[in-house]
Amino acid sequence: MPTHTYLCPHHGDFDVSVPFGKEVPKLDACPARTRRAAPEGRWMATCYAPSPWQPPTGVSFKIT
Ligand SMILES: [Zn+2]
Repeated sequence: MPTHTYLCPHHGDFDVSVPFGKEVPKLDACPARTRRAAPEGRWMATCYAPSPWQPPTGVSFKIT
């Protein structure tokens, strides 16, 4: 499955697998888990920040 890179404004880049034949979205939600303060303590939440798709560059391609 090909992977595509997205750039979260808070967590940096992350990879998303997109099945063949499926359109690659230009924005995706960041899957990073983030800590947030809450009155009853700390809890984990998912970032979900809209992250723009990063076009692949020749340098980042590695075929081994
Ligand atoms: Zn994020």
